[in-house]
Amino acid sequence: KEYTFAIIKPDAVEAGHADAIFAKLAEAGFRVAAQNEMTLSREQAEAFYGEHKDKPFFENLVTFMTSGPIKVLVLSAPDAIKAWRELIGPTNTEIARADKPESLRALFGTDQTANALHGSDSSSSAMREINFFFDGWAYD
Ligand code: ATP
Repeated sequence: KEYTFAIIKPDAVEAGHADAIFAKLAEAGFRVAAQNEMTLSREQAEAFYGEHKDKPFFENLVTFMTSGPIKVLVLSAPDAIKAWRELIGPTNTEIARADKPESLRALFGTDQTANALHGSDSSSSAMREINFFFDGWAYD
């Protein structure tokens, strides 16, 4: 068993896709180990995406991620980090629709910024991100 960190982003929450996403992830074998709904402050979004602060899309990303409620999730499954990124699909929703039409971003995303879901890209990112949102989370 492995843990990963996921976000249901503001576009998907706003569009009412959260329940469908929970159904899909359960069907794919993920268990929700922790969850919370919140709206990110600008400071939180900038800190969470700190590695992208010099990218041209950073401002848009922060504005988008603070635009409404999100759901933050700790997911568990065998090989969860890789399996979750496979399930959500390519970053850009248009590419996801063309190349991986069954992926969650293809099904629920909007465009290249508003892409419905986040997933940790490594075990060190997963630990950092879980601790960022779930202070004192205990791994078992
Ligand atoms: P990671 O888990 O490594 O963060 P990711 O698939 O979420 O992978 P990143 O490249 O890290 O993609 O970008 C973080 C977020 O920034 C994306 O999920 C998307 O919302 C937004 N983004 C990424 N690239 C672009 C881009 N070229 N234009 C606009 N927004 C982008």
